[in-house]
Amino acid sequence: MLRHAELSELSLAHIDCDAFYAAVEKRDNPALRDRPVIVGGGKRGVVSTACYIARIHGVRSAMPMFKALEACPEAVVIKPNMEKYASVGKQVREMMQALTPMVEPLSIDEAFLDLSGTERLHGAPPALVLARFARQVEQEVGISASVGLSYCKFLAKVASDLNKPRGFSVIGKAEAVSFLSGQPVSLIWGVGKAFAATLASDGLRTIGQLQTMERSELMRRYGTMGDRLFHLSRGLDERSVKANSEAKSVSSETTFNTDLSSPDDLVPVLRALSERVSARLKKADIAGRTVVLKLKTADFRIRTRNRQLGDPTRLADRIFHTGLDMLKRELDGTRFRLIGIGVSDLTDAAKADPPDLVDRLSHKRAMAEGAIDSLRAKFGKQAVETGYTFGRGRAGQPQRDQDPDAS
Ligand SMILES: [Mg+2]
Repeated sequence: MLRHAELSELSLAHIDCDAFYAAVEKRDNPALRDRPVIVGGGKRGVVSTACYIARIHGVRSAMPMFKALEACPEAVVIKPNMEKYASVGKQVREMMQALTPMVEPLSIDEAFLDLSGTERLHGAPPALVLARFARQVEQEVGISASVGLSYCKFLAKVASDLNKPRGFSVIGKAEAVSFLSGQPVSLIWGVGKAFAATLASDGLRTIGQLQTMERSELMRRYGTMGDRLFHLSRGLDERSVKANSEAKSVSSETTFNTDLSSPDDLVPVLRALSERVSARLKKADIAGRTVVLKLKTADFRIRTRNRQLGDPTRLADRIFHTGLDMLKRELDGTRFRLIGIGVSDLTDAAKADPPDLVDRLSHKRAMAEGAIDSLRAKFGKQAVETGYTFGRGRAGQPQRDQDPDAS
């Protein structure tokens, strides 16, 4: 058991299963135990999850499969079985919810938990409850998980990643600033590759450098992102754990009269559906953090792809581009009879689409979208079309539409 001066006070945890898909496959086929396992799409696909043995060979998530197999030719490649992973994820989720109702899932295999006020119920401080939980997951589910314990979401998530797999890491208030000072700026939630490059070109590479800067200066340079840099670099994160028990989504889908396989046919439909989803989000004044692409193949197999965004969105453009990125990976000649796009992890619109100085283009597109919306409000839906749908005529028209209600 580990020692830490604040161990009995910290109650915000991030739990993340280790190499989740690969771990489930190994559990179900013990012959794979000591072999490098990659879960992912066929030869043209990408790596969804690599087990830790495959990672030693340099295999990483999102790596094209051919590259992964170059790095690790002896790897066993397994097609993802999302139904199975969803049911295992649900089992783990229910075990979390037995500890506290304050569980905020981030994806199928990870969640934030706020265990404050549960000590009496469990007869043990959160740290001990979490250690027992990790052992329980191993014994009852047959996979492992890593735990990060801290006083805020940002550092709990950072902590869970420090010692994977089977990790248990603690970051307390006392050492937060000194721990962060040596870390790269990319550790900060919301700092992606592009923004890290911007910061590097301004000479800012470590969080320690951010800690010496004034809030006003960071905000002058980087807008709302600067405010985030100021606070998170100092370990200040006020976000609370939000248990959203009802998983709601807004989506729109269409079934074709003839099966389609080419981007020329599918992309305009995706654009039109994205605009429809966006319109409904805007109307309801809500936003979604996870973009979900749904495809049904000619032989009625359903493919669902999810991507979580750094911030919730209600913009057609972001929904579309995220969906397009996922769609491109599926276009391998397969014929599809249905395409759908939607968002889940719904929140109110207040936090959606912060002005993104990182990617000025996307900011411009967001502004343009606002202009398009007001033109449409004045002159009707057909007043403005984007290049994706303009002049597509019937080919780009959904043949049969379904707009499943928020479900
Ligand atoms: Mg995980």
